[in-house]
Amino acid sequence: MSILTTKFGGTSVGSVEALQQAAAIIKEQTDHWDHVVVVVSAMSGVTNALLSAARSASVGDEEAYTTTIDDIHFRHQETIRALLPKGEARTALETEISAFIKELRTFCHSILVMGEVTARGTDSIASLGERMNARVFSALLAANGTPSVPVDATQLVITDDHFMDAVPNMELTRARIQENLLPLLKEGLTPVVTGFIGATKDGITTTLGRGGSDYTSAILGDCLDADEVWTYTDVNGVMTADPRIVKEARVVPELSYKEVGEMAYFGAKVLHPKTIRPIIERGIPLWVKNTFNPDFPGTRIAKESNTKAGMITAITTIRNLSIVNVEGAGMLGVPGIAARTFTAVAREGASVLMISQSSSEQSICFVIPTDSVPAVLASIEEEVALELMRRDIDRVWAQENVEILTVIGAGMRDTPGVSARVFGALGKNNINVVAIAQGSSEFSISMVVSKEDATRAVQVIHEEVVEKAGA
Ligand code: ADP
Ligand code: ASP
Ligand code: MG
Repeated sequence: MSILTTKFGGTSVGSVEALQQAAAIIKEQTDHWDHVVVVVSAMSGVTNALLSAARSASVGDEEAYTTTIDDIHFRHQETIRALLPKGEARTALETEISAFIKELRTFCHSILVMGEVTARGTDSIASLGERMNARVFSALLAANGTPSVPVDATQLVITDDHFMDAVPNMELTRARIQENLLPLLKEGLTPVVTGFIGATKDGITTTLGRGGSDYTSAILGDCLDADEVWTYTDVNGVMTADPRIVKEARVVPELSYKEVGEMAYFGAKVLHPKTIRPIIERGIPLWVKNTFNPDFPGTRIAKESNTKAGMITAITTIRNLSIVNVEGAGMLGVPGIAARTFTAVAREGASVLMISQSSSEQSICFVIPTDSVPAVLASIEEEVALELMRRDIDRVWAQENVEILTVIGAGMRDTPGVSARVFGALGKNNINVVAIAQGSSEFSISMVVSKEDATRAVQVIHEEVVEKAGA
């Protein structure tokens, strides 16, 4: 029995034409596989619109959220009318969509009354985009002759209650999927599952973090023991750089799980960073393909890639970061200062993306998202108040507006001189590197540069290192 799990991202199901194209792809897939499971995102822009409605409600702007909700409703109505002929199926779908919109108005009204929005409330609202679109796409498949049912992942993906970034409990999830999804497959149906969302054991809606639909498809792939997982997006595959920054970026035909994991962690938006976790163990191949160019093979991600020694696979960036420095000549004599610094950071729930310690300057520096800076500085200053008073630590400060660039490639491990090429290219172009760290995997080197230099740095490294290595 062969099973394919597919996922369509927001743009791939974000317009009438895209939905029709995606439905045609599924129709073809059902000829090749015994069973096909589809995961869909919300229509492109809808999750952002939902979150913006919640924000407007929390600041008391009823007019703004009402307009946003009307727009969301209108967009779905227009889409449905263009996709389906008048009739029972269309009326039923319209009624369902109206019910979700009513739910959204009720949520926003309660936020307005309360004057605040919780993480739990945010997830309930954010989930509506996928819930609506799964129904739209399933109805379209059915109308196109592919028998289908929509399924809410709240019935399948069971998570903890870490709202907005929930962690699935794979054992419970596997049981639910076997119980709720397998019977549908046996009936010959093609289920359309909501990406991005899950629920706690008690049935409270959660989400897996922005861009989480990729993760959903891999979770389903693992729990169904699927043969392959295919993610359809709006570019030809995983590329050597963000195509919006580097025009010359090329599709990488093959990547290992580790390389793609590093790329996603270090900012390549094309896949959610946790996507590969569920499929590594069973070694299920993951393909990234283009909905709008379905004959292009795309990128194959599996245990091993065919990377030549010295070949650098890609360069990625993470934006909106700051580098925090804890400095002082007397610091080295104080035991446990690094541990205490990072405990103070952890207390604020800030994620540390990179750490680098300079032996000569007696400083600890690390990179965090800029929006965590005020809380983190205050927390460290409180933690080391005594050392600051004694002048063992001179100052705790942050340089804002930096970005992390990461150069990734399995072939780097056995090749000396890769970093020399990277830094040579930057030096030649007068780009200053603020800090450097080599990933423990030796698959990657990360460096911090100022925001003003970042775009040029990516282009220079791509041109002088990535392209030459791949050639
Ligand atoms: P989807 O909605 O299909 O999940 P996303 O917008 O989340 O699509 O991700 C796809 C986008 O990621 C592409 O349109 C591209 O602009 C961006 N991107 C950033 N880095 C890369 C990369 N290295 N390779 C491919 N796409 C990338
Ligand atoms: N719709 C969700 C988001 O915009 C999930 C996804 O698209 O993967 O973040
Ligand atoms: Mg995405």
